[in-house]
Amino acid sequence: MKIGILSTSKTLYSTRRLVEAGQKAGHEMQVINHKRCYMNIATHNPGIHYNGEALTGFDAVVPRIGASVTFYGTAVVRQFEMMGVYSVNESVAISRSRDKLRALQLLARKGIGLPVTGFANSPGDTADLMNLVNGAPVVIKLLEGTQGVGVVLAETRKAAESVIEAFRGLDAEFLVQEFIKEAGGADIRCFIVGGKVVAAMKRQAKEGEFRSNLHRGGSAEIIKLTPEERSTAVRAAKILGLNVAGVDLLRSNHGPVVMEVNSSPGLEGIEVATGKDVAGLIIEFIEKNARPGRTATRGRG
Ligand code: ADP
Ligand code: MG
Repeated sequence: MKIGILSTSKTLYSTRRLVEAGQKAGHEMQVINHKRCYMNIATHNPGIHYNGEALTGFDAVVPRIGASVTFYGTAVVRQFEMMGVYSVNESVAISRSRDKLRALQLLARKGIGLPVTGFANSPGDTADLMNLVNGAPVVIKLLEGTQGVGVVLAETRKAAESVIEAFRGLDAEFLVQEFIKEAGGADIRCFIVGGKVVAAMKRQAKEGEFRSNLHRGGSAEIIKLTPEERSTAVRAAKILGLNVAGVDLLRSNHGPVVMEVNSSPGLEGIEVATGKDVAGLIIEFIEKNARPGRTATRGRG
C-alpha cells in the first residue's frame, strides 16, 4: 500500500516510527508536511499539490496534526477524504477532539465520567462560577494550552478568583474543573487503536507538582487497567469517532474520569514505557481497514 504520514517533521519520533513500521510491512511510506500542501476546492475533481506535484495513488493517510495547525491540517485531511483516500482519523473527529468544550459536551451527553467542569468566557459572576464546580480547590485551564502550560491549581477561592480575573483580563478562554486530589498527581494514558486499548501507562507528576505531563518532569510506567477504565477509554474514543486516540483518565473516588482525548497521541512515551510496537499496530489497523472511499463522513460536517 501507499501510505502518507501527515506530519510537519520527518525527524519526530512518532513520524519515524510510523515510517519504519510501514516499510517493515512492505508499504511505500511518504511523509507529507500538511502545512505545505495546497489544494483546489472549486472542481469536481479535488486534488492536493505538494512541492509542485499532485499527490496521487495514496491508499491511506495517518494524520499527525499538531494543535497549532488544526484548522489547516484538518482541511488537508478533509481534502484527502473527498479524494476517497482513507484517513485513520477523519477530519471531523480530529476537530471534535481539539475543541475541548465540544469534546467534553459530547462525552457528557453519552454519560462518560468527567470531572465537574465549568466553562466560561467572560463570567460576570466569578463566585457563582466557582459554586458551579463546588468551590475550591479547582484546576483552571486555558483552552488552547498543551503540555501542562496554562493549567493552574487554585487551592483557595481567593486564589481561583485572582486567576480567573487574570485570564478574563487577557480575553482568554478557559475552563474551571473540580480538582481530583485523590489521583495523587497521576493520570493514565490509554492508547486506542481500532476500538481497543493496545497500551496504557501511568504518568506520575514529580514531587510537589500536580501535573503529570512528561514535559513537566513526570515519569511513566506500565499499568494494568481495570475493566471500567478500559471500557471508559474505548467508549470515549468511539464517541468522538477516533480510531487512533490517546484517552487520558484520572482515578477519582467516583470512578475513572476522562480529562482529555488526543487525536494525535505521541508514540515515544507509550512505546518506551510499555515496550509495545504501537506504530506496528497502527499499520496493521490500516491494512485491515483502509478501502478507497471508506469514510464515515466524506468530509461532511
Ligand atoms: P494539557 O492539555 O496541557 O496536558 P491537561 O488537562 O492534560 O492539560 O492537564 C495537565 C495535567 O494536570 C494532567 O495530566 C493531570 O496530571 C493534571 N490535572 C489536570 N486536570 C486535573 C484535575 N481536574 N484534577 C487533578 N489533576 C488534574
Ligand atoms: Mg494532558
